[in-house]
Amino acid sequence: MPSYPLPPGIRVELVSDTATRPSPGMRRAMAEAVVGDEQKREDPTTNRLLERVCELLGKEDAIFLPSGCMCNSIAYRLHCRPGDEILIHDSYHAVNYEVGAPAALAGASVRLLSGPDGLFDAQQVRQAIRPPHINHHPRSRVLSVEQTTNVGGGKVWSLDALRAVTAEAREHGLACHMDGARLWNAVVKSGVTASEYCERFDTVWVDFTKGMGCPVGSVFAASADLIREAWRVKHQLGGAMRQSGILAAACLYALDHNFERLAEDHANAERLAAGLSDIAGLAVEAPETNMVFFRVDGLGIERGEFLSRLLSDHSVRLGPNGPVRIRAVTHLDVSRDDIDFAVRETVDALKSS
Ligand SMILES: *Cc1c(COP(=O)(O)O)cnc(C)c1O
Repeated sequence: MPSYPLPPGIRVELVSDTATRPSPGMRRAMAEAVVGDEQKREDPTTNRLLERVCELLGKEDAIFLPSGCMCNSIAYRLHCRPGDEILIHDSYHAVNYEVGAPAALAGASVRLLSGPDGLFDAQQVRQAIRPPHINHHPRSRVLSVEQTTNVGGGKVWSLDALRAVTAEAREHGLACHMDGARLWNAVVKSGVTASEYCERFDTVWVDFTKGMGCPVGSVFAASADLIREAWRVKHQLGGAMRQSGILAAACLYALDHNFERLAEDHANAERLAAGLSDIAGLAVEAPETNMVFFRVDGLGIERGEFLSRLLSDHSVRLGPNGPVRIRAVTHLDVSRDDIDFAVRETVDALKSS
C-alpha cells in the first residue's frame, strides 16, 4: 500500500483509476532513470519503453506522449483532413471529455454510433459510412474504438466483434483507431494478447496513468510511416519532451509490477458490485473489468445528496455519470478491505435517510 496520503477527508477513492499515486518502488525507478534528449531520440529509457510497447502491441514504431487525449488528437490529425468525419460511439471519451478536440485540432466532425455497453456492430458501421459524394457529404475517414469501453461500463470488445467492425470499415477505405486507455485491463481480463487486439488497427495507444499507476505517460503506436508524421503533430501540439526517461521509467516499472495485478482490481470491482447489489434501491450493472456503474433513481434521495453524504460523512468518494448513474473505479490504491469499507459505509449512509 502506498505511503502517500489521499486528499483530506477521503479514505477510499473510487472516482477514477487515475487517482493512483506512484509507489515507492516506482519513484525509485524514476529517480534512477538513465536519460537523454527525447526529441533527438536519445533518451535510452524512453527508447526502451517504446520498443517494449511496440513488441506488446505488434506495431512497427511508437512515440511517447504526455496524455491519452493527445494520442487521440494525433490519431485524428493523421487520419482526417478538415471536414472529414470520425465514426465513433456516442459514449466515448473523445466525444465527451476532450473539450471538442476532434473538431478543434483535426477539423473533423463526429458521426455517432450508439448501442449498449459502448459496443456496436458491423451493420451499424455500414449504415453510418457516407456514400462518396463530391458535393454533399463529409468523407468518412476513421473508425474509432475504445478498449475497454469507459462509460460503456468497462466492457471488453471481443476479438470477433473487433474483426467484424474493422473489416467493414476497411472495406470502405476507412482507417481504424483504437483508444486503448484500458487495453491492459482487457488483456488481463480475457487472456487475448494486446497484439491480437491491435492487429487490425492502424493506430493504437495505451495509457499508463490509469490502472498502471504512473503519474504521466501514454504510448501511441502505428506503422513507421504514420509515426514519422505523428512526430510532427506531437511537436505542433507541444507534446515533445526532453529527459522523458524519468517518466518512461515509471511506465517500464508499471509493465513489470502493475500489469498482471489488474486482475485484483477486477476481483475488487466484482466484490463491490456484489455488495452494492444487496442494497435496496441501487440498480447495479454487472462489471467486466475495473468499473462499477449503478443507478440511484430507486433510492428516494437525490444522486447529489447520496454522493455528498457518502463523501462528507463516510469518506468514500464516487463519481457521477449522467443524471442518475454513478461510477466507481477500482485500482492499485484500493484494497479488498477498502471495498468492504465502502460497501459498509454505503449501507450506513442510506440508513440515515
Ligand atoms: C482517460 C481516458 C482518455 C484520456 O487519457 P488521458 O491520459 O487522461 O488524457 C481517453 N480515452 C479513455 C477511454 C479514457 O478513459
